[in-house]
Amino acid sequence: IRTYKDQDVVVIGGGPAGYIAAINAAQEGLTVACVEKRGKLGGTCLNEGCISSKSLLHSTKLYHQAVNEFTKHGIDVPVNKPNLDKMMENKNNNIYTLTKGIDYLFRKNKVTYIKGTATITSANEISIEPLKLVGVQNKLKAKNIIIATGSTNITSPLLPIDEKIILSSKGALSLRKIPKTMLIIGGGTIGLEMATIWNRLGTEVTVVELEDTIGGQLDSELASGLKEQLMKQNIKFLMSSRLTSVKIVNNKYASAEIITCCQSPRKTKIDSECVLVSIGRKPYYERLGIEKMGIHLDHNNKICTNENFQTNIPNIYAIGDITEGPMLAHRAEKQGMEVIKHILNPNKNLILNQSLIPNVIYTDPQVASIGCTEEQLMAAEEEYTVGKFPYFANPSARTFGILDGFVKILSNPKTHELLGAHILGPNASEAIHEIALGMHLNCKDTDLGEMCHAHPTLSEAIKEAAMSLYRKPIHL
Ligand code: FAD
Repeated sequence: IRTYKDQDVVVIGGGPAGYIAAINAAQEGLTVACVEKRGKLGGTCLNEGCISSKSLLHSTKLYHQAVNEFTKHGIDVPVNKPNLDKMMENKNNNIYTLTKGIDYLFRKNKVTYIKGTATITSANEISIEPLKLVGVQNKLKAKNIIIATGSTNITSPLLPIDEKIILSSKGALSLRKIPKTMLIIGGGTIGLEMATIWNRLGTEVTVVELEDTIGGQLDSELASGLKEQLMKQNIKFLMSSRLTSVKIVNNKYASAEIITCCQSPRKTKIDSECVLVSIGRKPYYERLGIEKMGIHLDHNNKICTNENFQTNIPNIYAIGDITEGPMLAHRAEKQGMEVIKHILNPNKNLILNQSLIPNVIYTDPQVASIGCTEEQLMAAEEEYTVGKFPYFANPSARTFGILDGFVKILSNPKTHELLGAHILGPNASEAIHEIALGMHLNCKDTDLGEMCHAHPTLSEAIKEAAMSLYRKPIHL
């Protein structure tokens, strides 16, 4: 048994929550170790989530443009069939470089990186089974423990994942061959991004969604605008529909039965080469020892914390997907930064505005939101005005050939306080940050509308949406 040097902080999990917390702690002069069981740093985000999907989204977008848009711009190049192996290789190279980058940052900042599975055995002690030494339990003591063990796919007994015909998001991001048909169960962020990737490569995609709207809690105008755009791209949707059975036929394809829950329920049978299960994610704490430690969970089985990210054992913190809130890498990272402030200064409560977390879906067009939706404001009976500006009236969008989508900003008509923003359009993932910063600094709609924006830019659509909250926009 190996006993490691005692640490100020031990972080369990090397994903965006954990690795950021570890580097941050080290930069603040604390001794810190990070235990990660996957053998690679970066967590779900880097290894099988954000980076994998965005890498394939980029490659497939280029392919799609080469096939569908180049000739319009006078570029005549012969386009062969997509080379999926090359796209996967590019994705894997990106993952490799970025995970190695975190290894480097750990070394640079003197974070002790331990490859193994951690179990909390007391408020100050962790036992670690090293990655390659099954059964061995090494010991590590720490003044503070940060749980950052993330999340995993929700599964369904109807859909046993085999990563050949029934896929998780991980399998759908590593396919070796382009399927002719794909059934996607769940029209949330992950389902829609996967639909975009495979549809661009020629797969016939059908999305089955239980609710009557896609994209989870999106502002309803954004959700319906996005669905309309995706349908134009030939992605099919079965809304208000539930999968009732799946049979694997001849080990070759899946035959699924779906019920659409309208006034008179309708049954549909769909045969497809593969089925992607994207019905959400759940907190992950296998072998962590939280039951024995008596660490409290909430109604969603996530770890309960106070505003300082402390569990009911005050020197054991929890951050990232394992805690209540949107399961997003940037939220996890932000918490990784904040939690160390409390460890350094435990007598001062943290004040973190968790409502200012941007939410993005990297479809085509992208959608991005921050703050309240119209539905939330209505439910809260809050007074609001809608300022909306379409991209078809924005000169820059026109030069890019973009005629659909809009910027929608919500503000208080009396105080001009920004309440929320929702963008459906090109580069929405980047554009949202202008409004996010505005909200962060308590700017008013007039600040966004009066600021001089460069011309021609897509950002001018934000200016004109803001202007339309307090006067007429110029270009509409
Ligand atoms: P994780 O990244 O899950 O990291 C937790 C780590 O803890 C894991 O590496 C795990 O191996 C390790 N671990 C668990 N238990 C132990 C233990 N006992 N001992 C040691 N190690 C342990 N978010 C975005 O913001 N933008 C996106 O574009 C985006 N795209 C996504 C696409 C997909 C397909 C998926 C699946 C997710 C996506 N996400 C995205 C979500 C994002 O990946 C997560 O929100 C983020 O990874 C959460 O970070 P985390 O550090 O809390 O957990």
